[in-house]
Amino acid sequence: MPEKKKITVAYGDGIGPEIMKATLNILDAAGAQIDPQVIDIGEKVFKQGNPAGIEPSSWDSLRETQVFLKAPITTPQGGGFKSLNVTTRTTLGLYANVRPCRSYSPYVATRHNALDMVIIRENEEDLYAGIEHQQTEEVVQSLKLISRPGCEKIIRYAFEYAKAYNRKKVTCFTKDNIMKLADGLFHRIFNEIGEEYPEIEKDHMIIDIGSAILADKPETLDVVVTLNLYGDIISDIAAQIAGSVGLGGSANVGEICAMFEAIHGSAPPIAGKDIANPSGLINAAIMMLVHIGQPDIATDINNAWLKTMEDGIHTADIYRPGSSTEIVGTQGFAKAVIGNLGKIPKQLKPAEFKPVKGSKLHQTTPSDPSLKKELIGVDVFLDWKEDNRDPQVLGKKLEAVSGNSLKLDMITNRGVKVYPEGKPETFATDHWRCRFVSSEAEDGLVSHAQILDLLRRLHEDAKFDFIKTENLYTFNGKRAFSSARGD
Ligand code: NAD
Repeated sequence: MPEKKKITVAYGDGIGPEIMKATLNILDAAGAQIDPQVIDIGEKVFKQGNPAGIEPSSWDSLRETQVFLKAPITTPQGGGFKSLNVTTRTTLGLYANVRPCRSYSPYVATRHNALDMVIIRENEEDLYAGIEHQQTEEVVQSLKLISRPGCEKIIRYAFEYAKAYNRKKVTCFTKDNIMKLADGLFHRIFNEIGEEYPEIEKDHMIIDIGSAILADKPETLDVVVTLNLYGDIISDIAAQIAGSVGLGGSANVGEICAMFEAIHGSAPPIAGKDIANPSGLINAAIMMLVHIGQPDIATDINNAWLKTMEDGIHTADIYRPGSSTEIVGTQGFAKAVIGNLGKIPKQLKPAEFKPVKGSKLHQTTPSDPSLKKELIGVDVFLDWKEDNRDPQVLGKKLEAVSGNSLKLDMITNRGVKVYPEGKPETFATDHWRCRFVSSEAEDGLVSHAQILDLLRRLHEDAKFDFIKTENLYTFNGKRAFSSARGD
């Protein structure tokens, strides 16, 4: 008998405690070798004045066990509270969010009988960094951060997952026709890493048509890898069209820790009524057992769960007179699954679980000491609403103040070029990007001192309110910033 693996367990809010109880009862009956350590998260902790929703001491348990089985929590309405999920993912470095979605037709109603895909979503970067600022009266910004190591880890995970589970194709979704640098990096790394997996078919789709295909012909997709925000949206769509968001589980995997949870929330209106479907958390716990090296028990529970679905023993959310045979509550459903342990489903494909553990997993490219990064200009962002917001007036004022070493190259408003040669129809907010480049250096290089001098003159001499700057770099001689629309 293997030693029991300590895992951290949180019962969460709303329906959390009842679905966790049902899940742990099944794990216990199946002989899972686990030793749950319970921590408090969610509403109770928020109400104690902790805006993170988790006690500082709970991190010790997570750091010790490195495995977290988490029930959903209720996020209080109103400002000041942080998303516990985002905090947990980023603090524990859980870079891969893995959501298998399949249909259980004809036992669960769906229009897509052959749907069987896995969505692998980047989990730490993108707009979820939560770096937001109001810069002017009219404009706020949210920074989208994408890193090479971040892309490498998630894309490699997707290919290693496909390999472990004998899946044939990995499709990458981005919007790199618009975000050429950020999404372009993700796509480029997909192509680079894809070459290391010649046996797996590769495909790329722009996220809009990709989502349309996902909603209409999901059976044509196999493994999908994508950035954080797109993954967040499409994984709910995939779960919904598979039959019910109440059935799906997800794994959040990092180099050291992993967290497993249902994809649905705490469903407060049905809490405490013993009617919630515990399947999402059961499916998450199955993924957890595979992760901690107990795949046989995972297979046994999964088969028992599939058999229960086939038997028509359903909770209210998926019960349909005619195809279902019996309506059960949360604990009744768990009892039925326990009764089916050791049995194999007859119609639904039995599951087979493999650990994802390729030798290159978590591998990233080391930084290149020979990379040449050169500063060739600066974008200065201004809050400006004077002179009827006329870009011609702004342009002339900036040209007068820009001085010898840096000259005004162009001005944009929300990315659209308005000076020189703007169009009168372009709408102007109070947020202006003013690009300055070298006016004297033959090599086009600019120094930080020149930028500081420019800012001083803008502020002190011309009384402009600069709200931020972005340096313009080349990397190995290649421009690494966007140009203006209309440029
Ligand atoms: P929800 O997923 O809780 O509920 C959506 C709908 O699905 C409701 O009609 C609900 O009754 C039903 N439902 C959900 N799970 C079910 C289950 N297991 N069995 C039967 N029916 C089920 O989403 P929501 O209403 O938008 O959010 C409720 C709370 O959950 C919010 O506070 C939200 O912030 C939180 N939430 C938490 C997580 C998490 O902890 N991972 C995820 C999503 C939402």
